[in-house]
Amino acid sequence: MDHLPIFLNVKGKRTLIVGNGVIAARKADLVLRAGSDLTIVAPELGDELSRLAETYDFTHKVDELSAEDLNGCVVAFGCSDDNAANERLCELAAAAGIMVNVPDTPESCDFIMPAVVDRTPLLIAISSGGTSPLLVRMLKARFETTIPAAYGRLAKFAGSYRDRIKAMVPNLTRRRRFWEAMVSGPVAEHLFSSQLEEASVLMDRLLEEAAKEGDKPPAGEVYLVGTGPGDPDLLTFRALRLMQQADVVLYDRLIGEGILNLVRRDAERIYVGKLPDNHPVPQEEIGDMLIRLAREGKRVLRLKGGDPFVFGRGGEEIERLSENGIAFQVIPGVTAAVGCASYAGIPLTHRDHAQGCVFVTGHEKDGKLNLNWKSLIQPRQTVVVYMGLSSIGAITGGFLDNGADPATPAAIIENGTRAGQRVITGTLESLAGKTADADIKSPALIIVGSVVTLRDKLSWFAH
Ligand code: SAH
Repeated sequence: MDHLPIFLNVKGKRTLIVGNGVIAARKADLVLRAGSDLTIVAPELGDELSRLAETYDFTHKVDELSAEDLNGCVVAFGCSDDNAANERLCELAAAAGIMVNVPDTPESCDFIMPAVVDRTPLLIAISSGGTSPLLVRMLKARFETTIPAAYGRLAKFAGSYRDRIKAMVPNLTRRRRFWEAMVSGPVAEHLFSSQLEEASVLMDRLLEEAAKEGDKPPAGEVYLVGTGPGDPDLLTFRALRLMQQADVVLYDRLIGEGILNLVRRDAERIYVGKLPDNHPVPQEEIGDMLIRLAREGKRVLRLKGGDPFVFGRGGEEIERLSENGIAFQVIPGVTAAVGCASYAGIPLTHRDHAQGCVFVTGHEKDGKLNLNWKSLIQPRQTVVVYMGLSSIGAITGGFLDNGADPATPAAIIENGTRAGQRVITGTLESLAGKTADADIKSPALIIVGSVVTLRDKLSWFAH
């Protein structure tokens, strides 16, 4: 970030503006609305400031700015048409350690003023760091039209209940659930339609119900969510919705930044992928963690690359949940074979090439591939190998040793569907060598079969 956004409490505190034009009046209006004790330093008040003086009290100093004027000031603004006056303010303020804003002069600014959408006590501040005022105006206009004025009422109402709710609903997770239900349920609806009394009655009733549960956490739940092979656009709506309401998220290496950014901002993040010593967190431990977190009443999001039930060990994880009586949901994702095939322009089946498709794992157990070669080497069939990069020589060798045609087309797709996707095509004979030459890295997926030749025509994904 180029700036640190904060909201200043200037109520009853001194601020100072040098200048008397439209810009000075605009800043004055903002600081006065925030309750500041404002001094305007200018030979005379212009029209706008004079109009403002009909509504608000502020001090007008006619004489030139002096160091004493800045005593006790929180911030100051140089809005004069006279550059020398602004410069003088900057010098005096710098000496006194007071932050200054000079509109449209970024080099003289200790802070910038955002555009504000005011739904007090709810405030939205927008800034482009001075790069695009037009974009800021467009965004402001969008917020102004989409955020009802009643949101301010909602925030105020919530604020008036804060202490009571804290006392009556001591469990933090339950309290959060309570707030969520409040802002998206009937209480909010009543507030939006100005039925304040009904809203209060409903709120009291909800509060009493929540308080009955004492310190007990609410029932937790685990969402086992497939996120697809990497492109965030391939998430399902359901996945996105659950990602937005999770309290805690467990993720591993296959989950890209783009997808993690869509998880609710304040959800706790726990990495359960490979540790620095290159050993993954044991499955057993992940299972324990899911159970413990759900028992604390949390909504636990377990993100899985691709689909949770395709080489994802999702089944093992939820078996434990089911044994322990923990509620769960499983959300399918686009599996790597399907995603990579699409983005590489290689249809997995095609009337002229393949009637069927098998997915296998190329993961070696005790240094050996345990594949049923006979069933893989079949006419008109596509074979997709997951986790086969490190054993690619053994895989293509296995095909050849068991009688496959060395000229059978084959491809390897690195980082499928993501920026940086690479596709190498060849044959069973050449693919291992080409993969090594291209220094293909994980995650990578191997596709074997004549469908690979279609890529010449169907390749479309440019990144
Ligand atoms: N559950 C996942 C698979 C997990 S196994 C799914 O349904 O896709 C991990 C393997 O998936 C990797 O070794 C690789 O072979 C494959 N894979 C996952 N994402 C990939 C991607 N973006 N590009 C290429 N291969 C990928």
